[in-house]
Amino acid sequence: MLLDTRAMRYLTAEDWRVLTAVEMGSKNHELVPTPLIERISRLKGGPSGVHRSISNLAKVGLIAKVKEAKYDGYRLTYGGLDYLALHSHSARNFVYSVGSRVGVGKESDIMIVADDKGTQKILKIHRLGRISFRTVKTNRDYLKNRPSASWMYLSRLAAMKEFAFMQVLQEEGFPVPEPIAQSRHTIVMSLIDSHPLRQISAIPDPASLYADLIALILRLAKHGLIHGDYNEFNILIREDKDETEDDPEAVTLTPILIDFPQMVSMDHRNAEMYFDRDVECIKRFFKRRFHFESTTPGPFYKDAKKTVGKDGVRRLDAAVEASGFTKKMAKDLEAAIREQEAKSSQGDAPDSDDLEDESGEDETGDEDEEEEQQVIGTIVPLENEEGLQKLTINDGT
Ligand code: ADP
Ligand code: MG
Repeated sequence: MLLDTRAMRYLTAEDWRVLTAVEMGSKNHELVPTPLIERISRLKGGPSGVHRSISNLAKVGLIAKVKEAKYDGYRLTYGGLDYLALHSHSARNFVYSVGSRVGVGKESDIMIVADDKGTQKILKIHRLGRISFRTVKTNRDYLKNRPSASWMYLSRLAAMKEFAFMQVLQEEGFPVPEPIAQSRHTIVMSLIDSHPLRQISAIPDPASLYADLIALILRLAKHGLIHGDYNEFNILIREDKDETEDDPEAVTLTPILIDFPQMVSMDHRNAEMYFDRDVECIKRFFKRRFHFESTTPGPFYKDAKKTVGKDGVRRLDAAVEASGFTKKMAKDLEAAIREQEAKSSQGDAPDSDDLEDESGEDETGDEDEEEEQQVIGTIVPLENEEGLQKLTINDGT
């Protein structure tokens, strides 16, 4: 499911039209009947033009035929959805070129991209269901229990939710990447020149960074939110020059938060559990990595709860709901994320704890799980534009 943009330049305007038609047809058909594709795409060349495009698209894996289906039809693949999203980002001038995949999470691919001025950004491609849909059986059970749940729908929800949260968080001045655009299951955001906390082996003043991170949890809570996955992978540490010091080498460490699809409201029925888990995660990491333990217990949910909406602060949980990310969407996505979490803890996929070992090394020997592993690397901006491939889109516009 690697994003490979090479086939893009060979797609004709008709191919793009047919691809779009398959996407439109997918809204109410898991398998889009070929006659429906013909009808939606209405090419000048008639059905033969559509068939040529269908065969082009199928050849490069953007759509796929389903074996043993009851009728003749095609479904959109992740590749097809990726192309449609990139097409949209490119048309809006947010993405001009695409670099390599720099990270792979359990449910996302992270790519470096650049706009036409060469400014590098991050493209996050949500891939929910990458694990859930692995086996046919799980797939079938999954869809039976929740008919509206499909990888495409869920991945789009994850991107929508993440983007909505990044927007309100940024408006409130929280340290998050700048959300630039969202299309389908993808988000374009600013690239933070930083190291994930996970990669930092020593810091001069752990107490101060710990205090900053706890303060962030409390600040989120006051605005009605819990991050829900507040761990060393999702906290990026940026080194900023410390202007207050005489020493030109002096830096301050600024934590930047990422990864928001699992954020929950302080009013969520399991809010206390999520809040405590976020706090515990940081405590455990600081103890293990920096041998630092705070002398103050907590913070505790019941105290944080009293501060929600205090001093006239804006409730961001409410703000996101108002932005169009509805309760139903939240529910569908949550069910999928919890299911994924349950799978991880049953040992289907490694979670961050499984990756941790005593020597502090990042590698595990489990190579065949490669797809599921988080590639833990610092994302440094590319030195020049050689690593970036210009997107060539001939869509006739
Ligand atoms: P996932 O949901 O798969 O965990 P994340 O959003 O946490 O995806 O991103 C995975 C990794 O990619 C992070 O741990 C971080 O190293 C890197 N990353 C993500 N977004 C950015 C960004 N805006 N700037 C720099 N690095 C990023
Ligand atoms: Mg993450």
